[in-house]
Amino acid sequence: MNTGPTDIDPYVAIFARYLRERGLAVTQQRTAVAEAVFSSSGHRSVDDLHAALRGRGLSLGKATIYRTLGLLVQSGLVEEHDFGEGFRRFEHRLSRDPVHHHMVCIRSGEVIEFRSEALARIVQETAARHGFRPAYHKLVIFGLSRASQESGADVEYRGITCPIEDTPPES
Ligand SMILES: [Zn+2]
Repeated sequence: MNTGPTDIDPYVAIFARYLRERGLAVTQQRTAVAEAVFSSSGHRSVDDLHAALRGRGLSLGKATIYRTLGLLVQSGLVEEHDFGEGFRRFEHRLSRDPVHHHMVCIRSGEVIEFRSEALARIVQETAARHGFRPAYHKLVIFGLSRASQESGADVEYRGITCPIEDTPPES
């Protein structure tokens, strides 16, 4: 899943500046977590990042990783997702279109991104009709990836569910 060598140094530097501006120390651990996020693509869990760091010979506690991710989210460099899986996923927002949506495979957990100008238009038009000023929006489509379907999984289309009524109880 790694994108391979990319020039992430400028982003790490931006994060370091963010920390310093808030009087927070630019520690090796925080830098390592930032590097792990910026050098990975996709939507990574704390466990993913923990394993990636271990693979580089860095043994960081998950609490440290989680706290550093919180700082990265606050800095605006990283986006946090809750796909209802019982854990959070994180993706960096650099060098890519920050406005995209997700399809989540409920069998394999695969996350597929998509963009839609038609959807962006609908959001604007709908908001305008209600005199609503939109700040951001999110769309997650749950279902089965092609690979999961080919491996025999099946699911019924339930249409749109109200996310408020449908929120599973806190585990
Ligand atoms: Zn994404």
